[in-house]
Amino acid sequence: MSLEKLADLIFPNIDKTPEYYIKKYPKRNLKEGAIVSRYAPSPTGFQHIGGVFAALINERLASQSEGVFFLRIEDTDQKREVKGAIKDTIETMHNFGMDFNEGMTGEDSSVGEYGPYRQSQRQEIYEAFAKDLIRKGLAYPSFATPEELAALRERQIEAKITPGYYGEFATDRNLSPEEAMEKIKNGENYIIRFKSPGNIENRVDFHDLIKGDISFPENNQDIVIIKGDGLPTYHFAHVVDDALMRTTHVIRGEEWLSSLPIHVQLFDVLGLERPEYAHIPTIMKNDNGSKRKLSKRKDAEAAVSYYTEVGYPAQSVIEYLLNIINSSFEEWRTENPDADYHEFPVSLDKMNKSGALFDIVKLNDVSKDVICKFKADKVYGLYTAWAKEYDKEMYELVTNNEAMAKAIFNIDKEGPKPRKDFAKWEDVRGKIDYFFDELFNKETAENVELPKTLSLEAAKEIIKVYKDEFNFNSGSQEAWFEELKEIGAKLGYCANRKEYKANPDQYKGMISDVAGAVRAALSHRSNTPDLYTIMQILGEEKTKARFQAFLNL
Ligand code: GLU
Repeated sequence: MSLEKLADLIFPNIDKTPEYYIKKYPKRNLKEGAIVSRYAPSPTGFQHIGGVFAALINERLASQSEGVFFLRIEDTDQKREVKGAIKDTIETMHNFGMDFNEGMTGEDSSVGEYGPYRQSQRQEIYEAFAKDLIRKGLAYPSFATPEELAALRERQIEAKITPGYYGEFATDRNLSPEEAMEKIKNGENYIIRFKSPGNIENRVDFHDLIKGDISFPENNQDIVIIKGDGLPTYHFAHVVDDALMRTTHVIRGEEWLSSLPIHVQLFDVLGLERPEYAHIPTIMKNDNGSKRKLSKRKDAEAAVSYYTEVGYPAQSVIEYLLNIINSSFEEWRTENPDADYHEFPVSLDKMNKSGALFDIVKLNDVSKDVICKFKADKVYGLYTAWAKEYDKEMYELVTNNEAMAKAIFNIDKEGPKPRKDFAKWEDVRGKIDYFFDELFNKETAENVELPKTLSLEAAKEIIKVYKDEFNFNSGSQEAWFEELKEIGAKLGYCANRKEYKANPDQYKGMISDVAGAVRAALSHRSNTPDLYTIMQILGEEKTKARFQAFLNL
């Protein structure tokens, strides 16, 4: 009776019970095996690549099983909240090809029958569950001040025992309801703690869908369930929300693994059905031989905005993350070069249990493979969308020369082994800038790259002759090359490597030197796609002008 009074005194306006909510949010009517999963970020505005990683696993498993993937906003730490963060989360996930079936759809809107999907709007639900626990003597108000708790902690550490509010140290658990009511009426501040029935001597066996079989001691800490500001802690909100939202799989970062004993216990005491758990390895980085967490402060690539800024297509990032999730993705990709990545079946039990190593070099390889399969029109569209934002000069040049740009992006595209020039849109400028007079004409003799065997003077000698003898309309790559060999031979450059090696003194050099001179004159580069193609894209006039300009360098 007095517990009832205590519960009423603490939560006078709460008249609903847990049973009410359990009935209000019934089990979902989904096909057998359908997974209900969620992405549950705090709205701090900073999108970490680890968040995309976690969301991707959740989204794939829900989608593959024809389940539900929803967005829940965990805003119980209101100090950290950033305006616009919800919109930013939804947009980011959308850009990475992940749309939510349910949950928040904006700052103040949502879809779905299992809401509210924002924790700060669920206060009365948490209170109903907390009130019920108090009524049953399974939770209690605790009046210990932060100073008292700090002093307790110090004493415990000194005595080399586990710190915390538990067992004999949890003195407020022994207050009678009358004593507690007295303190409340006197205006003392309090929080609500869970009265843990656990004993650390007991072990709990547990199966995690990624980590496998694990075993841990029971929780015996009287953890806080409702904070001083009236909002729940993560532990309590997680259990209440995932039970009522009928989440079947909680797939979250492994930093929560150590709290699992608390969560398992809360589900049991509350009599709620526990979801399956999968704890995702933290994304690590190899830093000069030692592994460490990707850090928001030290590593640009920790922020999702980095990938947008340097211009990795979303598909590249996703395919790279799929590689980390299941290493079999790579083989699948080789066997199914043109398949949509959504067709790859993600599986938790094949996931690496310990670290997920993030490696930019590998990301670049994956991304080159992705981009090389994009048709020229698609490359043009994605590149100009990126450049418009991040490289205005290239945006102007490329869009003012659309046909030429598309022809450039189409170089060696259609064959069985398309060129892999770009890992990200930021790479494009350095690979194609020479096509544009506006950029090329700013270059000087210092920019000219030549084969090691050829001096600038010798290159000019070649071009002096070549520019008058070459036929722009040779008709094919092969005919063009035959002609190059003939001109080279006349100038004393050998077209046959063996012959040259046998009598090096009889020649000025090899045909590769002649090609190198032409390449240098047209592009100032020593490494470009095929020269015939470059000349065709530049056009006769520009090609000739470049030969002339080369002689004047
Ligand atoms: N808000 C928690 C976080 O951002 C969610 C963890 C979970 O998925 O349960 O870490």
